Amino acid sequence: MKSYFIKTYGCQMNIHESEKIAGILRDLGYKEADSDQNADLIVFNTCCIRETAEAKISGHIGEVSRLKQKNPNLIVAVCGCMSQQKGVAEQLKKRFPFINIILGTSNLQLLAEELARQTQKHSLIDTAEYNTVTEMNSYRTSGANAWVNIIYGCNNFCTYCIVPYVRGRERSRKEKDIVAEVSYLLENGYKEITLLGQNVNSYGKDLDDGSSFSKLLEKLATLPYKYRLRFLTSHPKDFTEDIIDVVAKYDNICKSIHLPVQSGSTAVLRNMNRRYTREYYLDLVNKIRAKIPDAGLSSDIMVGFPGETDENFADTLDLVKQVRYSSCFCFIYSRRKGTPGYAMENQIPKTVKTERIKQLIAAQNVITREISKQFEGKTVEILVDGLNDKYSDVYCGRTDCGKLVNFKCDKDCTGEFVNVKINRSQSATLFGEIVKK
Ligand code: SF4
Repeated sequence: MKSYFIKTYGCQMNIHESEKIAGILRDLGYKEADSDQNADLIVFNTCCIRETAEAKISGHIGEVSRLKQKNPNLIVAVCGCMSQQKGVAEQLKKRFPFINIILGTSNLQLLAEELARQTQKHSLIDTAEYNTVTEMNSYRTSGANAWVNIIYGCNNFCTYCIVPYVRGRERSRKEKDIVAEVSYLLENGYKEITLLGQNVNSYGKDLDDGSSFSKLLEKLATLPYKYRLRFLTSHPKDFTEDIIDVVAKYDNICKSIHLPVQSGSTAVLRNMNRRYTREYYLDLVNKIRAKIPDAGLSSDIMVGFPGETDENFADTLDLVKQVRYSSCFCFIYSRRKGTPGYAMENQIPKTVKTERIKQLIAAQNVITREISKQFEGKTVEILVDGLNDKYSDVYCGRTDCGKLVNFKCDKDCTGEFVNVKINRSQSATLFGEIVKK
């Protein structure tokens, strides 16, 4: 039996796509290898969101040449966002002639066909072909949670982002296919479903059959199973009131909402082509909090976008203090070739960016600690992910609003809902003990 080893880079979308790659390979009779050293096939599922990510991946691909020398029958495949970029397949071919197969995000479904050929030729990527939504089986590795794609691609063209160039325009899956997949997963014991898309709130707009994200959520929330429903990622401009109403209405739709703001300054948001203002965003947060008081909001925020002044950054700090996110992914803007931001004037010096990120992280850390502290003494329902990597008897899981909880348990409670009384908190993490329901 031949074996595969998949190296995955990047976001949840890629993690789930690696599950689909594993699904294709297992259907072909491959089994998973414990390391790349022992594999007959190595797949690099790549990311290109930052140039540093690409440099790292290229380094890892280069290292495989040693394995290929030892085992000339080893098949090396590269797929994902990095290889989907215009001209990159050609560059990869030149730089790493030992690569057997190069696919992008638009033609991943050809992997089985390419493997069947097993020639030393490289497949070519037709970047125009994005218009089909191909249903693929997944070999899932994410415990009690299952990822489910509902929409592919993005129409938004934020000026810092490469995604629309490597994942094409928005294509929604049919509602009946999503409902069938989710029902199958729940029937087979999954306790949490996370709906995935670059902009889930846009779901259905391209279908022209009356589908919408709120209708899909409602349909899924009323399936007759005890489970949690989450979704990633939202775009604030498309987070409409009907979505807020459905999230508020159903207990099984988690009250953790990832609502990336990117900047607290309207001027910077305009340069980023985010198509909302600071005021609109704050108003949206108020509407969410009015109908879902216990919502745990999280965000992505970047500092140092071209032209960001001290005043603009002060607006971001102020917004963070007003919104009080449970957690925030804070990062420094880095230029990404192929995006409009790359050519923008007024790039911000590294020292200024570094100072701003320090201030932003410090401000968010205070808020994160304060919010975590509010959980002390409370009992919360946790869906158990599994053992904490660091300890043999400590399990971890998340609350409905997304807080990570650690607790001891003398039996394997992975995949169960348990009640945990929170005894203490440390930064974003809570610690507690199991109590009877
Ligand atoms: S919404 Fe903006 S940041 Fe998100 S994937 Fe689309 S272009 Fe990129």
